[in-house]
Amino acid sequence: MILSKEFLEALETLCVVRDGDAADALDAGFHPENLAAGVVALPGMAQEVCAIVALCRTHKVSIVPHGGRTGLAGAGASEPGQLIVDLNKMNRIVELDHDAGTIAVEAGATLQQVQEACAEHGLTPGIDLAARGSATIGGMIATNAGGMEAFRCGVMRHRVVGMQAVMPDASLLEDMTWVSKVNEGFDIKHLLTGSEGRLGIITGAVLKLDRLPDAASSALVSFQSAAAAVHAFRHLCMRGGVLRAEIMWRGYAETVAQDVGLSELVASFPGDVLVLFEHSGGSRQEAQERQQEALLPLMESGHVEHAVIAQNDRQAADFWRIREESWAVERRWPGGYWYDVSVPLRSLDDYVETLQGKLQAIAGGIHFSCMGHLGDGNLHITVSAQSGCRPDKTVVDAAVFSGLKAMGGSFSAEHGIGLEKMQALTAYGDPAKLAAARAVKQALDPDNLMNPGKVLL
Ligand SMILES: Cc1cc2nc3c(=O)[nH]c(=O)nc-3n(C[C@H](O)[C@H](O)[C@H](O)COP(=O)(O)OP(=O)(O)OC[C@H]3O[C@@H](n4cnc5c(N)ncnc54)[C@H](O)[C@@H]3O)c2cc1C
Repeated sequence: MILSKEFLEALETLCVVRDGDAADALDAGFHPENLAAGVVALPGMAQEVCAIVALCRTHKVSIVPHGGRTGLAGAGASEPGQLIVDLNKMNRIVELDHDAGTIAVEAGATLQQVQEACAEHGLTPGIDLAARGSATIGGMIATNAGGMEAFRCGVMRHRVVGMQAVMPDASLLEDMTWVSKVNEGFDIKHLLTGSEGRLGIITGAVLKLDRLPDAASSALVSFQSAAAAVHAFRHLCMRGGVLRAEIMWRGYAETVAQDVGLSELVASFPGDVLVLFEHSGGSRQEAQERQQEALLPLMESGHVEHAVIAQNDRQAADFWRIREESWAVERRWPGGYWYDVSVPLRSLDDYVETLQGKLQAIAGGIHFSCMGHLGDGNLHITVSAQSGCRPDKTVVDAAVFSGLKAMGGSFSAEHGIGLEKMQALTAYGDPAKLAAARAVKQALDPDNLMNPGKVLL
């Protein structure tokens, strides 16, 4: 199906439109089908988005909202006959209230833009992820993004105090409150948060801000087990000042280290689990001293196998490269299956050991890589194999997902459902929750125009 000439002509009177070569020239981002629709509307203000949605309703054209196209669950994939509504031109920082610690932004502003605007005032949006340069605030709200600071600042849902959005009936939801306490009945902005473009197009938001730490110190620390790492994490949090705690199992750290030329560094750390801790302080030296004092009792009690506190920016950057260059796993074993699960902290060792056993039983030669956000028990797992002997995905899915619900975890932590996890949602989602979600979708978008085919069947 292609969009009619009449529709395209009407669309061009409403906003900037890119199609043909101009659409092909855009960066498709992290899913090969993101730009498959071939027609991209680039509105410049919320009223234009309302007009676009109204036009789409008239012509029964379905809409796929796009931000930075960094989503990892395929929720931005599109097909011919659909219209991509790309929020990238709506990227203004509208207002920052320093004393109240809040910022109003348009939905297409990138996380990095917001972080930089906040940093000028000694503030931070309290959320960070490696795709910061492209991921937009609208996309992050739509996926309820988490990231490295979620264990202490919450996920995106906890950062949003106000929202502006265009609903599927083309009406404008104006809920741009600057205050946290608003109990006005059902909170529709929280329905849109995490809805992956299925319930409306977010056009603006007010976010809560925190104080930006003055300086930070990074330490790479190794442990015999995840349980020992969790014990250390709790001890360090009780003493205060922990900004981040990123966990990596040895197999992951060795693969990335080999790719980025840091194998010797990783080899010098005994133990199965490495954690990259970041501590705050008034100055780098103060942060380092705080980190050292906090780690010392853990070393003396034998909880820690080995610890190195970065002495300069270069060493800190090397530590962070091992954590952030996760695509090294894909480079080494292309075509791996990627997972994003939540595991209760008390069950980390049990879950990982059981899963490794299940994978070995499926087929020999499977490579298991695992890292994530320790404080949330959020594991990013890659299951890879040599080309030609890839195991069946449904079998691997079952190995990764089964047991999670019973232990109080989740098959979907922070990347969303998109296309990739729809089967898992049907299999592992709570039936009553799914029925309520379908009823909400039917009520708000009876014609199923918003991002059809994703999240909910
Ligand atoms: C290197 C890398 C690291 C990452 N790290 C993390 C991490 O630590 N934590 C984490 O949570 N995620 C992470 N992600 C995933 C990704 O960055 C997030 O999902 C991000 O929130 C997506 O934002 P986006 O603007 O790119 O959205 P897109 O990819 O453009 O869209 C994602 C979904 O949101 C919808 N959407 C986009 N904009 C809007 C809007 N304005 N209104 C309504 N719906 C909209 C789309 O339809 C789609 O369903 C990472 C990705 C990469 C590539």
